[in-house]
Amino acid sequence: MTNHRMEEQKRPKGEETTPIKAPKNATLEQLRGKHKNSGQGGLSAQEAKSMILLGNKNHQEKLADSGTPPQRRYEKIMDGEADYVIIFCSDARNATLDSEQDGEKLVGVHIRIAGNVIPFEGVSLDEIKDVISKLKPDGDLIIMAHCKCGAVGEHVKWNQAGQPDTGSEPLNALLHAVFGETPQENAMAQYETLKSLVGPDRKITVMMYDWEDGSVEILSPEASETARLLKSKLERFHQEADSDGKLGERLSETQKPHTTVVASNLMPFSIDTVCDAEQNELFATTGSEGGLDHYDEASALYAAEHLGPKHIAFIAPMAAGMEKMFDRWEADLRSMPQVAEKLDSGAIKITRLGYNLSNGALQEV
Ligand SMILES: [Zn+2]
Repeated sequence: MTNHRMEEQKRPKGEETTPIKAPKNATLEQLRGKHKNSGQGGLSAQEAKSMILLGNKNHQEKLADSGTPPQRRYEKIMDGEADYVIIFCSDARNATLDSEQDGEKLVGVHIRIAGNVIPFEGVSLDEIKDVISKLKPDGDLIIMAHCKCGAVGEHVKWNQAGQPDTGSEPLNALLHAVFGETPQENAMAQYETLKSLVGPDRKITVMMYDWEDGSVEILSPEASETARLLKSKLERFHQEADSDGKLGERLSETQKPHTTVVASNLMPFSIDTVCDAEQNELFATTGSEGGLDHYDEASALYAAEHLGPKHIAFIAPMAAGMEKMFDRWEADLRSMPQVAEKLDSGAIKITRLGYNLSNGALQEV
C-alpha cells in the first residue's frame, strides 16, 4: 500500500458528504488541485460543473487560436467524411486522442462504451453503425483497449462463478458482451465482431493503452496510418501529462472521475478536449436519439455505485431535438432504482449542456 493510499484512508469520513470548500469563484487550477488531492467523490456537483465550464473556456480559446469552428468538423461527420471512428472504454483514466489543432484535417468520432465492447444488439450497436456510416470510404476504425480494465476484471470473476445473474439487467448484458481473460483478448474478440459487421475491406486497428508506462501497443494484424498517428499522439499526450514520472502510479491507484458524462455520438471533438480535461476527471459513455441502453446504463451504474462522482453531464451539439434526447437519457438512467434514488435525494445532480458549434461553448439548457 502506498503512502498516498494510507493518507486517503486517514481522511475523516465526513469529507465525503461535506467536502472541503473550494473558494467561491475558484479557478480551474484550484478545483483541479482539490480533485487531485482528494479521494473519490471529492468534488461537489457544483464544483464538478465549474471544472467542466472553466475547462470549456480553455477549449474555446484554443479553437479561436486554431481558426477552425467545430461546425466544419460536424459537417464533415454529417456529410460522411469523418476520418476515423474510435471505440474505447468509459474508464476515466483513458486519455484524449484529438485536439483543437486537428482542425478539419483529422476528424474523429469518439464512442465510449464499457469494456470497449461491440454489442450484438441495442442502441449502442446502432450508434456504432451510425458513426461507421459517417466515415469517408477509406476511413479508419479503431478499437482501443486499456490496462486494468474493470469490465474485463468483472467478466473474469463472473465467468469463474458460473455466470450468475447479478440482479442488474444492464450489468448482465455487459458481462455477456465482454470476452476473454485479459483486456487484450477482449479487444481482439471485439475486433472479430466489428470485422463481421463491416466486412473484410474496412481496415480495423486494435490498440492497447497502458497508462502505467504510457505505451500504446498495436494488437491487430493490420494498422492504419491514422491509428499510428493517434498512437504517437497518445504517447506524446501521456508524456506531457507525466511531468513528475508518477502519472501511471497515480492512475493505477484509483479511478476517481468528478463527472460521468453522457455525450452524443455526433460530437465533433472528444469530451476531454471539449472540457479541457485531464486523465481521471471524466468517466464517459455515448448516447444518441435512441436513448441509452444496458451498456450505457451499466457504465452509469458502475460510476454511481463505485466511483463517487456527484455530477452527471449530458453533452450534445446544440440542435433540434436535443432537449427531447436529454429527457430520454434521464428517463433511461432513472430506470435503474439505484441511480434514481441518488438523483431524487440530490446525491447526484444532472447538468444538461448544449455544445455551440460555432464557437465550442457549452451552454446550460
Ligand atoms: Zn475499461
